[in-house]
Amino acid sequence: MLGLMQNQPLLTSMLLDFAARYHGDAPIVSRRVEGDIHRYTYRDLAARAKQLANTLDGMGLAAGERVASLAWNGYRHMEMYYGVSGSGRVIHTLNPRLSPEQMAWIINHAEDKVLCFDMTFLPLVQAIHAQCPTVKQWVALCDADKLPSDSGIAGLISYEGWIGGQSSDYTWPQFDENTASGLCYTSGTTGNPKGALYSHRSTVLHAYGAALPDALNLSARDSVMPVVPMFHVNAWGLPYAAAIVGCKVVFPGPAMDGKSIYELMESEQVTTAAGVPTIWQMLLAHVQGHGLKFSSMNRTVIGGSACPPAMIDTFREEFGIDVLHAWGMTETSPLGTVCTLKNKHLKLPAEQQMAIRVKQGRAICGVDMRIVGDDGQDQPWDGKAYGDLLVRGPWIMDTYFKGASPLVKDAQGRSWFPTGDVATIDADGFMHITDRSKDVIKSGGEWISSIDIENIAMAHPAVAMAACIGMPHPKWDERPIVVVALKPGAQLTREELLKFYEGKGQAKWQIPDDVVFVDAIPLGATGKMLKTRLREQLVDYKLPGL
Ligand code: AMP
Repeated sequence: MLGLMQNQPLLTSMLLDFAARYHGDAPIVSRRVEGDIHRYTYRDLAARAKQLANTLDGMGLAAGERVASLAWNGYRHMEMYYGVSGSGRVIHTLNPRLSPEQMAWIINHAEDKVLCFDMTFLPLVQAIHAQCPTVKQWVALCDADKLPSDSGIAGLISYEGWIGGQSSDYTWPQFDENTASGLCYTSGTTGNPKGALYSHRSTVLHAYGAALPDALNLSARDSVMPVVPMFHVNAWGLPYAAAIVGCKVVFPGPAMDGKSIYELMESEQVTTAAGVPTIWQMLLAHVQGHGLKFSSMNRTVIGGSACPPAMIDTFREEFGIDVLHAWGMTETSPLGTVCTLKNKHLKLPAEQQMAIRVKQGRAICGVDMRIVGDDGQDQPWDGKAYGDLLVRGPWIMDTYFKGASPLVKDAQGRSWFPTGDVATIDADGFMHITDRSKDVIKSGGEWISSIDIENIAMAHPAVAMAACIGMPHPKWDERPIVVVALKPGAQLTREELLKFYEGKGQAKWQIPDDVVFVDAIPLGATGKMLKTRLREQLVDYKLPGL
């Protein structure tokens, strides 16, 4: 027997309609590529998203076609999120940090029909447009009078000129909630990138999950800054989750340095933000270097790679800001887990609380997790046993766009997505990533967590960034070394850093065999350490004594 409730599909347009109706005057503030600060409201956002929808209808773009964005975080990008998906097309967010070859490959694979880009990326578009025959309309996200006359891109139009003459009267179409809404490719550090194709249903459910108190804890009283780019898994869903609660949104645009982020946080009284650890490192360096304080921030979401415990500590102890350590992937929309304490943890001594806070946290309801050993058997949830992390749920990917399904079945026939991460889960359900499976170091048959080794090095005041990698060893198979970039002007010797590992909970055989100092650790397209590149750089390296 079916329930007798209204069968209204979960569509992204309903989030925008809600925000415009119930939080119509809540501000959306953007630092623009042009350099100025732009302000408007959810009501304005909805009107302009409808103008965009009318534009797409007017050009006869069929439902399901891909409209690509190559843009920083800002209001026009948010209009694209809603105007494109709400009208039944698919918003495809391109990562501008990929190589031009990768970008052209992705555009062709996605068969993008329209591509809207920030003027910052004009040279990039000029370099690749000839290799992208599927794109019928190139749109520069700028005013009509800012459009260059000699771009060399046939039919280039300004976004404002494109949508400007259109009506803001538009009724969002209703369709199956399983219809595709967004497309995002993995960064593809090895091989070609793969596309995760989100649906309206997955996007809306993820937004509800993200807003929950034990997830990002969003409310109408927040002023939220997505520092994580809108081309990195939909800025972790924040443009959708913000609409669910109607909070103020503050977009940092292209100015991602510590000073610009800090100043915008202060001037817009940002209460919470989200980004990868490298961004927060720059922010902290600026704030600490200038003796500044945060006047409105109370928590920040850090994920994308492991947040060093030293960073969690600094935010809490020096600035009174809670870190919400979060884990997720392009294929998981992305939020899978967030680390927040349970009631029974509140009375624990600070040190024991900290041991929990460094973990990637508990599943958000809607996500289920397992860890399995090499034999495919479930590992115990004791916080010690490692296993490959598998996840499932309504906002977890099933099949890659135009690709295969990576899912694996369990004994009950249920399908799970293999994350490629290795993790422990404790009795309270807190998941802790120890490594990417391809980064796991096996020394004498025993696993060494590269993240643990990196976290200790990152706690040294002279260290800006540390990457632990395994090096071939004739007796032990592999031994860990730590590759370190120092803070500007800082001094540290190999011996000093190795000594620093003593008494930090590592067995002797887990302490790295060597320290290699480099000017900078190579970073990938989403700000994560590129260990593949590092291994290439160290191809001639030999462990001491070999
Ligand atoms: P991406 O799809 O590019 O966002 O990358 C997803 C991968 O980033 C995950 O599979 C993890 O390896 C890594 N990752 C994300 N969040 C965390 C975290 N909090 N701690 C450790 N690794 C993380």
